Amino acid sequence: MRRIALFGASGSIGRQTLDVVRRLKYDLVAVSVHNNTEALASIYAEFRPKYVVITGNAAPPAGVKPLYGREGLVEVAESEDVDTVVVATNGIIGVFPTLAALKRGKRVALANKETLVAFGPFVREVADLGELVPIDSEHSSAFQLLNGVKREEVKKLILTASGGPFRTWPKERIAKARPEDALRHPTWRMGAKITVDSATLMNKGLEVIEAHFLFDLSADEIDVRIHPQSAIHAILLLKDNSLKMHVSRPDMRIPIQYALTYPGREEIPIPPYLPPDEEVVLTLEMPDTERFPALALAYRALRLGGTYPAVLNAANEVAVFAFLEGRIGFYDITAIVERVMEENPFAHERTFEGFLKAHEWAARRAKELVSSKS
Ligand code: NDP
Ligand code: MG
Repeated sequence: MRRIALFGASGSIGRQTLDVVRRLKYDLVAVSVHNNTEALASIYAEFRPKYVVITGNAAPPAGVKPLYGREGLVEVAESEDVDTVVVATNGIIGVFPTLAALKRGKRVALANKETLVAFGPFVREVADLGELVPIDSEHSSAFQLLNGVKREEVKKLILTASGGPFRTWPKERIAKARPEDALRHPTWRMGAKITVDSATLMNKGLEVIEAHFLFDLSADEIDVRIHPQSAIHAILLLKDNSLKMHVSRPDMRIPIQYALTYPGREEIPIPPYLPPDEEVVLTLEMPDTERFPALALAYRALRLGGTYPAVLNAANEVAVFAFLEGRIGFYDITAIVERVMEENPFAHERTFEGFLKAHEWAARRAKELVSSKS
């Protein structure tokens, strides 16, 4: 019986986690939301969690005394009442409960990729004190594929990407894409920020960095292939040139459930990717970094190391929300990220505080660049 704290309970991953928790009858001890008062009220009415954390402006349910902000998340992550922390918030606030829970030897089921991208070295430092189990589908697959494989037997990890809604669009058309075009993801239903990241391929770039920190693989050992069916989530190329793949329907409840039941498995009401009456065609294409420069930027950030991934992530987050608000164009997102990376004055910072400063600077600088464009 797991005692779960779910941060970001009102989001896309949050709601799917509630679905798993409801079905497996796990104990939901704590939830957090940011601004969504209605979602909090209905989650509270159903699950009656002992702790409610509000990180933004949401109003608490009647009669509930909530905890607030980053301190609230950390207090819950450290609480004796919790053994598993699901981090499904947006942004970098997730790093604080992640570090706190791992230091206390708990399981962190991590969806929030920004945490690992921006603060990878610090998460890695404490990862083995607890259990870090990825929820991001490609990393959940890689985590499962690597089980029982020796590090020296792995030549490459290949992450797949759907290619997003602009996979077949020419560059001139992509340049004029509007937020509603970018939000039309072909295979996955996700929050708005990550959906835009899938359209730019920045999502895959962030995932390459995430994989580096999770599995201790270098940039040269991580590849990307475009796989429009979103059935294969990750592939291992092994020493004997055989490939090991992990295949499932594109439904996040599968990796969410695994992160909770690991090392065991439970039934799930989702059919296998093996329809009895239709042909299964799975294709793999090379990504086009000319039309999708974000992927190359992310590799550059990973190779530069230090605070560069944090700077890439912060600038991207600001630029994506500005694009969603209609303030900048689609290719302005990557132009802003590139410019902010080039200017990074915190290249030699090595401390956690230094990384936080780099994150804050990059967000500020990206906002200035957005203002100058809009
Ligand atoms: P959503 O936007 O759907 O949900 C985000 C959740 O976090 C909501 O509960 C929201 O609360 C809360 N939140 C928003 N901003 C903040 C903030 N500044 N501080 C604390 N909490 C905040 O996002 P997703 O569920 O799609 O994604 C969540 C994380 O999981 C992201 O890091 C994403 O990259 C990652 N992820 C998501 C996948 C998916 O399929 N959706 C797949 C793989 C990874 P409120 O509703 O109250 O605003
Ligand atoms: Mg993913």
